[in-house]
Amino acid sequence: MRPQTYISALYGEARGYHRLAIRRQVTENEQLPRAILAIRADRLFAEHVRRCIGRFPLYAERVKAHRGSLPRPGETIRPDELPVWTRRDQIDFFAAQEHPEDSHYVHESGGSTGLVVRFHVTRRSYEWRTAVMDRVYGWAGAEEGVKSLHVWGTTKAANRLHGYKVFVHRALQRRVYFNTLREFTDQERASCCDAINRTKPHAIVGYTGMLVDIARFARDHRALNWKAPTLISTAETLQCGQRELLESQLAHEVFDSYGSREFMNIASECSMHAGYHVASDNLRIEVVDDDGNPVEPGEQGRIVVTDFHNAATPFVRYEVGDNGIMAPPGEPCRCGRPFPLLRRVEGRTQDVILTRRGRVSALNIQDVLEHFEWVEGYQLLQPSREALVIRLLTHTELSEERLLPLRSRLRTQVGDLSVTFERVNELTRRSNGKIELVTSALGVA
Ligand SMILES: [Zn+2]
Repeated sequence: MRPQTYISALYGEARGYHRLAIRRQVTENEQLPRAILAIRADRLFAEHVRRCIGRFPLYAERVKAHRGSLPRPGETIRPDELPVWTRRDQIDFFAAQEHPEDSHYVHESGGSTGLVVRFHVTRRSYEWRTAVMDRVYGWAGAEEGVKSLHVWGTTKAANRLHGYKVFVHRALQRRVYFNTLREFTDQERASCCDAINRTKPHAIVGYTGMLVDIARFARDHRALNWKAPTLISTAETLQCGQRELLESQLAHEVFDSYGSREFMNIASECSMHAGYHVASDNLRIEVVDDDGNPVEPGEQGRIVVTDFHNAATPFVRYEVGDNGIMAPPGEPCRCGRPFPLLRRVEGRTQDVILTRRGRVSALNIQDVLEHFEWVEGYQLLQPSREALVIRLLTHTELSEERLLPLRSRLRTQVGDLSVTFERVNELTRRSNGKIELVTSALGVA
């Protein structure tokens, strides 16, 4: 553990968060034999399922309807006997759920589907997910205490004290944040390149699309005189040619990472780049067919995730909305780590909106929309370079009073694009049933 991590862990320990113990365990798990880790994961899975059944009557009902009966004490629970928990299920569940005592915070996710899913996260789960995050950052040489530059949205501090805490924490972590929660113009790209030249980070971390955008700018304007040793790309699928572009401009080695708002880090590349190691001490990934039955390793299917440590939400076989392929269990990674490998993952959004001054990732617009509790879903339509239509799924009428703060926040993202809102009762779907997040007449895919 680096001194910085140790200080933060001790602070978390003193506050009663068990941070030191969790950090230690997360580090030690990396050395476990695969068989032991797999047995532990089975146990954690069963514990979480039983906890959800005992705690959430709605979930218990669903299990009973799917399986015919609830598991008896001591009975083995096979994952494929349990229902897939869809985004719709979670939305309905959250609406009916009373605020749980052990909720540390409420978070929300739009994913690539446009439906806003909200969920509670416990303190314990938060400690686990941040520990797992630091472990995989470490694989790319970007753990806390190593100088790194993060290119994405930074949330505004709630008050002065919180702002001070964030400042101290980041200084300890040696992390510099470059805020992209605004229109990404050439000027922004240039100042991001300046920030890289100035801070000389060991690692650059950010949304794939943003980093690709900076790399393009740097190539066309010869704007960089520093190349970071490593880079972590996340949130969007790394498309063909993009790894090469990033490695030619921004960093010597690109580590792709797969995560979601619901779980933070799910799986990450190691230096072998042979797939994504699943954080199987914190969650379980299954790849399933349309009926929720597991497909063979090597075959593509829908990714469902079970979160072992978040007791406040029944994320059991939760459908994140991405597709993936698991590697056969008999093919361990040459790095020797015991975590199973997800060979490929697809479906993360890389949609963009064109403003008069440049491209803006749809993720940035999602960040704004999800901030408003009354928004239940959305779709973005761009008929021309000057206009954006936002279709909002909401159970209340749209009033100017309600839209005003939304408009002002959006302006920081899309500048002077003319934005109109449309209230809808349903989002339109493609022929394959998937909701299309962005429909653009501009051909910017
Ligand atoms: Zn590996």
